[in-house]
Amino acid sequence: MVDSNMKHHFPCLWLPKAFLLLSLLFLPACLHAPGEAQLPAARLNYLDTIQKDMDVLVPDPRHPDDPFVLVTLREAMTGARERNGGIGACLVREATGEVVERGHNRQYEPYFRSDLHAEMDLLDRFEERMRLARSRNPGDPTYTDPRAATGLVLYTSVEPCPMCLTRIINSGIKKVYYAAPDINGGMVRRFDGLPPFWKSMAEGMVLEPARCSPALSEIAARLFRPMHVPGAKRLEAQSK
Ligand SMILES: [Zn+2]
Repeated sequence: MVDSNMKHHFPCLWLPKAFLLLSLLFLPACLHAPGEAQLPAARLNYLDTIQKDMDVLVPDPRHPDDPFVLVTLREAMTGARERNGGIGACLVREATGEVVERGHNRQYEPYFRSDLHAEMDLLDRFEERMRLARSRNPGDPTYTDPRAATGLVLYTSVEPCPMCLTRIINSGIKKVYYAAPDINGGMVRRFDGLPPFWKSMAEGMVLEPARCSPALSEIAARLFRPMHVPGAKRLEAQSK
C-alpha cells in the first residue's frame, strides 16, 4: 500500500522541471560559436556574406598556396565569430603538404591575452608538442637545437605584425607566406626597420605574399578589415 505521505518525500520535483525548462530556453544560445551571440547583427551579416563567398571557393591549381590559405581563412572566420579578430594561420610540412598546426587570433575571448595573435597561438601549441616529442627522442636534431625543425612553412591570412614576425624568426621557421598585406601594422614590408640582431637571425628566410588566388587574398583582407585603426584610410592613402 502506498503511503499517502509519500509525496512529502519529493517536495522538490518542481526544481528539476524548472531546470529543464530553463535549459530548453537557453539551448539556442549555447549552439552558437563562443562569443557569436554577442556579435552585433551587422557584424554577423557581414561575416555571413563572407562565409557564402568562402563556401564556393576551391583551390586553383595555378596557385600553389591556395589550399593552405583556405585553411587560414577558415581559422580567421572562427576568430572573427569569436570576437577575436579575423586572422588565421597554419603550419605546413612542405615536403608532404601536411597541415601540422593551425591557429587564430584569441586575443580577447574568453579573456584578454595580448600575446595570442594567430601566429603565436599556433606556435605555442606546436612548440609544446615538439618539446614533448623531442624529450623522448635524443636522436631528433631539435633535441639539441630546438630551431632545427626544417621544412616548415607558416601561412597566415594577414602580414605578420612586429611582435609575431620576431617570434617567427625566433622559432626557426624559415618560410612565411601571408595572404593579405597589413598596411598599418605589417612588419614584413618594414623588415629593414628590424634591429640588426633580428635581421641577421632572419637571414635566408622567405617572407613573402602567398602565391594564392586574388579572390583568397581579398577574403583575407575582408575578414581583417574591421580591425583597422581610426585614421587607417589616411595612412593607406599615404603609403600608396
Ligand atoms: Zn601579430
